[in-house]
Amino acid sequence: MRRLIQLVAYLWTLPNTLLGIACGLILAGRFQVVDGVCEVHSPLIAAVLKRFPLPASAITVGHVVLARDKQMLAMTRTHERVHVRQYERWGIMFVPAYLFASACLFLQGKDGYRENPFEKEAYAVEGADFNTTSNATNRR
Ligand SMILES: [Zn+2]
Repeated sequence: MRRLIQLVAYLWTLPNTLLGIACGLILAGRFQVVDGVCEVHSPLIAAVLKRFPLPASAITVGHVVLARDKQMLAMTRTHERVHVRQYERWGIMFVPAYLFASACLFLQGKDGYRENPFEKEAYAVEGADFNTTSNATNRR
């Protein structure tokens, strides 16, 4: 049953995933698959991410994570995996929902990135993961 649910999640996000793969190919990315997610990095991807209005280390598009380099893929893995799960829930509506939330926050004079509920969830999980790792390290 779990495999069936995972298959449906891949199909549900397929349009976004194909877009992510196309971006990776166009930007001469180096591909690897980690835990069922396609991770891509290249100097061209780095150049594009640096030009975002808010310069980014990585971006998730369906089951594809595009990052500046291999180190950024590792550093952002927990955060970006939350976005993968969000794509699995929202499908092709994820990007419109994300942008709508950002626009509403911006119009209210708030931070459309940090206060976006999709980002808040990702940072909360990332923080919990960091604290768990940090606590484990402190116990040693
Ligand atoms: Zn994020």
